[in-house]
Amino acid sequence: MTVQTQNEQIQSQWARVRGKLRAEMGETAYRNWLKKLTLLQVRGQEVELAVPTRFVRDWIISHYQDRLRTLWQAENPTLRGVEVIVDSNCLAGPADGKTTARAAEMDPSVAAPEIARKDSAETPAANFFGAALDPRLTFEDFVVGKSNELAYAAAYRVADSKTVPFNPLFLYGGVGLGKTHLMHAIAWHIRKKSPERRVIYLSAEKFMYQFVRALRDKNTMAFKEQFRSVDVLMIDDVQFISGKDSTQEEFFHTFNALVDQNRQVVISADKSPSDLEGMEERMKSRLGWGLVADIHPTTYELRLGILQAKAERMKIETPPKVMEFLAHKITSNVRELEGALNRIMAHSQLVGRPITLETTQEVLHDLLRANDRRVTIEEIQKRVAEHFNIKVSDMHSARRSRAVARPRQVAMYLAKQLTPRSLPEIGRKFGGRDHTTVMHAVRKVDELRAADASFAEDVELLRRMLEG
Ligand code: ADP
Ligand code: MG
Repeated sequence: MTVQTQNEQIQSQWARVRGKLRAEMGETAYRNWLKKLTLLQVRGQEVELAVPTRFVRDWIISHYQDRLRTLWQAENPTLRGVEVIVDSNCLAGPADGKTTARAAEMDPSVAAPEIARKDSAETPAANFFGAALDPRLTFEDFVVGKSNELAYAAAYRVADSKTVPFNPLFLYGGVGLGKTHLMHAIAWHIRKKSPERRVIYLSAEKFMYQFVRALRDKNTMAFKEQFRSVDVLMIDDVQFISGKDSTQEEFFHTFNALVDQNRQVVISADKSPSDLEGMEERMKSRLGWGLVADIHPTTYELRLGILQAKAERMKIETPPKVMEFLAHKITSNVRELEGALNRIMAHSQLVGRPITLETTQEVLHDLLRANDRRVTIEEIQKRVAEHFNIKVSDMHSARRSRAVARPRQVAMYLAKQLTPRSLPEIGRKFGGRDHTTVMHAVRKVDELRAADASFAEDVELLRRMLEG
């Protein structure tokens, strides 16, 4: 294939991905965010997209990265990831899919979706604060099993009752197990059943961002008012505000104000309240006052159920053997399970052949290998910390001294090598660091390995231990 046609293909894939996103997310979200994306290149198995500012990047990563990846993979099953980088040369991304930046189209104001916009009514899926609700994430589409039945039942109670059954509802569990799904489902349900109730769903990162922005613009009154006048406030991934003292403080006040007024608060996190690191004691204890529901890792039955539901919804014939195989093999989380199914479906459509066990194994060989190994970032951090004789908490800490920074870089490097996680995901696991920090760590470790044989041996040893 010539470079030219390959490039053309990628361009037309990108045009289709944009088209689908636009249809799914609605005009407002598209204009505010997705239009700013520019396709830079496809490097290996990664698509690189650029946006003009860091804020836009963070927002796109936290809200659309997974969807972008899934849609790209549906176009091109060989792709593994989508990276969004900041490139201030890339001004407004032209909607026609050209990769050239056009200065004349530059929108100097970074989109500010946080203030309810007049036109937000255009998009049924955009809630008050502009955080798009994903139409696929409803209670109907949530498959219930032993591992998530408590969380499901609690979420449904909160959504369905006119009063506040428990406050807050605290949902926690590992990544990709359905926390965000349940929160969106609550929002959809309330919107349908009691449209007069004001519901806000947002990520903790966004809460933090808005707070910092309000501080900067000396606009904190308006900020507080917006949050304190809602009926249901849902904040996703609250572990991201731990350690951020002033945001935590503001969150605490908002939280207390709402709970005191008997408004429903729903929180999600990757850990139980008492295990949240860097969170103040009073906050931890307050978060645990209502109902704490954890989502356990999936069981085989649940994974199979989810695959069946999804294949049925997509009306795609998938042999039971393939489903069973996937449910057996992809045990990490539901997100990967869905990704696997999407990939084999896309592949079969592309080559025009039915899905078989053989093609499944072929198409998913990298994913299957990663799941076989099943090394987690936490494990890597623990091992590396032990090896270099530092505290595991230093993996997340802000300390920059060489004695901790170097092991941290090694752990980031191994996380990139041994897990299917993206750079931003890895960064988050290391005390909320930026993906460029991870990129730098990977490069640095590569350099050192080349320059220093005993360092290279150390890294190799760690890798073997972890893979073992
Ligand atoms: P989390 O927020 O816990 O990291 P998500 O809610 O984003 O996880 O879930 C990841 C993906 O898996 C989503 O696409 C979601 O729809 C899907 N998912 C998770 N649990 C279930 C379930 N029980 N039934 C159907 N889909 C699920
Ligand atoms: Mg989530």
